[in-house]
Amino acid sequence: MQTLTPEVTIIGAGAAGLMCAFSAALRGRKVLLLDHANKAGKKILMSGGGRCNFTNLYTEPANFLSTNPHFCKSALARYTQWDFIELVSRHGVPYHEKKLGQLFCDNKSSDILAMLLDECAQAGVDLRLDTTVETIEKTEAGYALQTGIGAVHCQSLVIATGGLSIPTLGATGFGYQIARQFGHGVLPTRAGLVPFTITEPTLKAMCSELSGTSVEDCLVSCNGQSFRENILFTHRGLSGPAILQISSYWQPGDVVHIDLLPHLDLGEWLTTQQQERPNGELRTLLGEVFTRKLAGLLCEHWFASKPLKQYTAPELEAIATQLGDWQLVPAGTEGYRTAEVTLGGVDTREVSSKTMESQKSPGLYFIGEVLDVSGHLGGFNFQWAWASGFAAAQYV
Ligand SMILES: Cc1cc2nc3c(=O)[nH]c(=O)nc-3n(C[C@H](O)[C@H](O)[C@H](O)COP(=O)(O)OP(=O)(O)OC[C@H]3O[C@@H](n4cnc5c(N)ncnc54)[C@H](O)[C@@H]3O)c2cc1C
Repeated sequence: MQTLTPEVTIIGAGAAGLMCAFSAALRGRKVLLLDHANKAGKKILMSGGGRCNFTNLYTEPANFLSTNPHFCKSALARYTQWDFIELVSRHGVPYHEKKLGQLFCDNKSSDILAMLLDECAQAGVDLRLDTTVETIEKTEAGYALQTGIGAVHCQSLVIATGGLSIPTLGATGFGYQIARQFGHGVLPTRAGLVPFTITEPTLKAMCSELSGTSVEDCLVSCNGQSFRENILFTHRGLSGPAILQISSYWQPGDVVHIDLLPHLDLGEWLTTQQQERPNGELRTLLGEVFTRKLAGLLCEHWFASKPLKQYTAPELEAIATQLGDWQLVPAGTEGYRTAEVTLGGVDTREVSSKTMESQKSPGLYFIGEVLDVSGHLGGFNFQWAWASGFAAAQYV
């Protein structure tokens, strides 16, 4: 096997690696893009329920979690959502805004992957799949890799291996291992944008019975963060956008507060209803704001249903509190098996926010989810992959 001598080697042909590869090749750099999987961009294909929520119109640094919150600003400012939208439009990929600025493909996620692969092919990127990387060493001229396709010598090496979520899609901790090898700190990782599990028997039974039911407009809060979106009951606990969002701020043991009816002043509403329809049953009333099944189960497990006139003022207040501030301590999360992102990762305090280059080992770059930058739900994680990949591409 002959030694390959690209100028730039990128490990990981996911969102960030593909963007970095063609952007660097367009600058005239000779780029080798390696991935151990048999297909590039598997997460892109899976994303957004098969329609890839590829960016968000309202992307702001505030949509990202990191120990170093300023780190993402420079890259996000230099490659914005509008730049990616321009690329998508240039390729004639049809898309639409679903809600809250979230842009999805009209057809399939494969449109986005095909676009990125087309850019790579046009720019002359050498893409090698099914290729493992065995060792990496620093040399005087850059980096020497031993790979499944032989030795590779390059000036710049980009780590774009992503996080730990969904191992069946090729996720590994390889990026963290390389970071440590070159003296970088790796901040503790945990699953983010992930459903909660519930083990408390009564609540678990209730969730399981309601599995597939959603409550449209809830305010979910934890550790000073709140998200107003729908929640979904599952066989094992709770999911839905508001739950996924708050999961990124939740630590084991923390209480999650759920307002099931944030558009109502519950105390006032219940009192008015009691006055206006004293003979109406609580179950019937709740059936008007929730599904009948949920109303029935709430009455079965939380409040006995009786005619409204029979509730005392303190009882009505307790109902208002339970519906407006349901306090829940999840047993845990579904973990990396279903998480959309990995929180934590390569410590950004040792990486240049402008170039993504390591401050420990010149010529080594980290981009995408392997870094300690994670976005909210809604297209922000891809925007980070595009922006950080583009930033590194200008300097590799
Ligand atoms: C089910 C699901 C749905 C999602 N939906 C959305 C969405 O709609 N919108 C959004 O913004 N975000 C979404 N995300 C998050 C988004 O997919 C990721 O944040 C993004 O893909 C990260 O890009 P990346 O390039 O850093 O990593 P990845 O896209 O994960 O790419 C990493 C690549 O590195 C390769 N690799 C790993 N280890 C090695 C190794 N040892 N050797 C060689 N190659 C290796 C992997 O095979 C992979 O191809 C979703 C995530 C999941 C799991």
